[in-house]
Amino acid sequence: MKVYFDHNATTPLHPEVKKEMAEAMEMFGNPSSMHAWGREARANVEDARKRVAGFIGAGEDEIVFVGSGSEANNTVLSLFICATNQCIPGTKMRSTIITTKIEHPCVLETSECLAHRGARVKYLDVDRYGKIDLDQLESMLGDDVGLVSVMMANNEIGTFQDIETIAKMARSCGALMHTDAVQAVGKVPVDVNALGLDFLTISGHKIYGPKGVGALYVRKGTPYCPFIRGGHQERGRRAGTENTLGILGLGKAVEMRQLEMAGEAERLGALKAALRKGIEERIDDISFNGHPTDSLCGTLNVSFPGAEGESILLYLDLEGIAVSTGSACASGSLDPSHVLLATGVDAERAHGSIRISLGRESTMQEVEYMLDVLPRTIKRIRDMSTAYIKGGTHAASR
Ligand SMILES: *Cc1c(COP(=O)(O)O)cnc(C)c1O
Repeated sequence: MKVYFDHNATTPLHPEVKKEMAEAMEMFGNPSSMHAWGREARANVEDARKRVAGFIGAGEDEIVFVGSGSEANNTVLSLFICATNQCIPGTKMRSTIITTKIEHPCVLETSECLAHRGARVKYLDVDRYGKIDLDQLESMLGDDVGLVSVMMANNEIGTFQDIETIAKMARSCGALMHTDAVQAVGKVPVDVNALGLDFLTISGHKIYGPKGVGALYVRKGTPYCPFIRGGHQERGRRAGTENTLGILGLGKAVEMRQLEMAGEAERLGALKAALRKGIEERIDDISFNGHPTDSLCGTLNVSFPGAEGESILLYLDLEGIAVSTGSACASGSLDPSHVLLATGVDAERAHGSIRISLGRESTMQEVEYMLDVLPRTIKRIRDMSTAYIKGGTHAASR
């Protein structure tokens, strides 16, 4: 049996997306060309823009197509340096950015880089469930803060933040509000106006669309500076000939999410509950990470002290099951997940954690198979680890 439980890393193309993209393969015109080939490509790009905008309650001219979720996040944070240094005429932004300790690396590493280029960056702590502390945010906000960037749902533990309240607080002190909604859009309803956002990030491949395409929402009138310069594309906000096929695929993916999202949440919630209960009943000495209720419906993060996460991943892979340890970008490195550490999980426990993320094709049979394989996998790894003492210190024999 092959079981893909790594949907937060990436998702397969929705069959309808695949079909539409395959049919559009012949479309090669440049959307900037005025002839029939160009007009055909332009029409498809604008149709996708309409769908993406409609999905999040934005205006069509507020959507910028970009090359990835990472690029969208880099664009927002880097724009801030341009605004601070007045390369955007008439704009003088404040020099402090507030973000959190559990953001995706594309936000955290860009923030570190900006700190070397004149920005002041403040990082919000999170509690044991991964929620930021609104009082701490309040104490950090002041008239020096230009941007607040807080992710809507965490990719490793699934925890949601109260973006509406955070945005209200940020904007009432005159800061702009950005949210990395890559994991949230397409799973829960998102409306940029109801939430009070200035920027929002979307990625195609996390919502059954193609890789290498994303969308950035930019509220009308918000200071903006392109991250990729040198072309009039996207109204001068992102240079480079449009990824027409990718954009078309993203538009179709959004359309399919709109149709399937609501029913799916309940179904995945039930699968996750079964998985959680089964793991609890069958395996000793475990703990779940992330918020027990206010988290993504398909994301379950579990710690198995005494079992190295990488070993669990490889043994499960031998049985045909795909999971992840922390974020895919961090695997390959032995650093424990920055997200789990921020929630107060100790380094040993963080090392013994896996993320199971379900998706639209996940079934109860797959969950049952997982619940059959996982207990013996953990037992086997723990039995090999001479240093594992249940409930004691877990000095793994790495
Ligand atoms: C995957 C992901 C990204 C990066 O998106 P890409 O399109 O892969 O660059 C950013 N933020 C979060 C929360 C993600 O899960």
